[in-house]
Amino acid sequence: TREAKLDLVKKHIKPYPDFPSKGILFRDICPILKDPAALTAVIDLFEEHVRQMQPQVELIVGLDARGFLFGPLLAQRLGVGFVLIRKKGKLPGPTVSVAYTLEYGQAEVEMQEDAVAPGQKVLLIDDLLATGGTLWAACELLKKNKAEVLGCMVVIELKDLHGSERVESTVFSLVQY
Ligand code: AMP
Repeated sequence: TREAKLDLVKKHIKPYPDFPSKGILFRDICPILKDPAALTAVIDLFEEHVRQMQPQVELIVGLDARGFLFGPLLAQRLGVGFVLIRKKGKLPGPTVSVAYTLEYGQAEVEMQEDAVAPGQKVLLIDDLLATGGTLWAACELLKKNKAEVLGCMVVIELKDLHGSERVESTVFSLVQY
């Protein structure tokens, strides 16, 4: 059942206080990947959500780096392609990029110019939504490339940080803290 799958996922998220810096409670998804049943549960729950979306998702876009762990598995299930949004400087050929502010400092995300077709209906995927800065930048990037963002999907959402308000798209999450 859906409840049993969610329980299995929750059991495989390990909290680490004060990582990577003091005051941050890091939610580690590595135990999910180490357990085939937990990983299958994540992809099952994602698939269930995507299959009832209207209009239909045509492409999964994953965020560097942990979005790459779940995105391709889901894309294969759905029979659609997978595209990478990377940190700046990693992708060959013509690229488009968007800069955004982090809690401390700046970051920039990038994708290949020809990665999405104009009007293509895409779904963004990452492991965790915190302040929403990363997903916000990813949405901007896709808009620049004229894709249609149908929504975002994450395993974990940190509700206190109100990241979903920053992201200009619907965010679906499996586990909330
Ligand atoms: P943000 O742009 O603030 O929403 O941060 C999202 C990105 O940072 C995600 O790709 C996460 O992998 C990572 N991240 C932020 N906060 C945490 C946390 N408490 N535990 C694990 N990963 C985090």
